[in-house]
Amino acid sequence: MDLLKQKILNEGIVLPGNILKVDNFLNHQIDPQLMYEIGLAFADIFADMKITKILTIEASGIPPALMTGYIMKIPVVYAKKTEAANLDSDYLSAEVYSYTRKKSYIIRVSRNYLKSGDCVLLIDDFLANGQAVLGLSDLVDQAGACLAGAGIVIEKAFQQGGDRVRQRGIYVRSLARIEDMSGGTVQFCDE
Ligand code: 5GP
Repeated sequence: MDLLKQKILNEGIVLPGNILKVDNFLNHQIDPQLMYEIGLAFADIFADMKITKILTIEASGIPPALMTGYIMKIPVVYAKKTEAANLDSDYLSAEVYSYTRKKSYIIRVSRNYLKSGDCVLLIDDFLANGQAVLGLSDLVDQAGACLAGAGIVIEKAFQQGGDRVRQRGIYVRSLARIEDMSGGTVQFCDE
């Protein structure tokens, strides 16, 4: 997606540890027009899959997931990272290791919002080592729902997550795939 790639080149900052900072439009300040274009792109890619629900993780997955759900007219559920008092007591949970935070956390979704009849599209901001997508797909399995695939805004293709997730049979489509950024400049995969 050219608009997204331009935005990454113009506004993304490569931090030590292979972290791409995109706080200017995705992870802190949010660009609604770009999110809308991202939603259109995912809606187009996954149009024929009879998706009934979009699942993401708070917080940064929510803007692209919400726009995709808005365009596809499908409810969006986000997995919670904290055990809030207002979460239904009957919930599904999975453990996720965070690459950026270097620690594990539990994600939770009420059983009311993920059911065996659902066909689920996962959406997330980044795919790095694959832990978030695998944790979300674990929740889908526990619900007995079907997994249509995963839509990723930025895939760091030089890390193992993409292969790991695809080897599990999950259909993954990423709007920008980064081949390398070790020299401080982002280079995208040819595709
Ligand atoms: P994974 O679970 O695939 O290892 O990592 C995906 C999650 O880690 C994403 O939800 C995202 O929040 C975070 N993440 C991983 N790499 C980066 C990065 O380079 N930049 C930012 N901003 N977040 C990242």
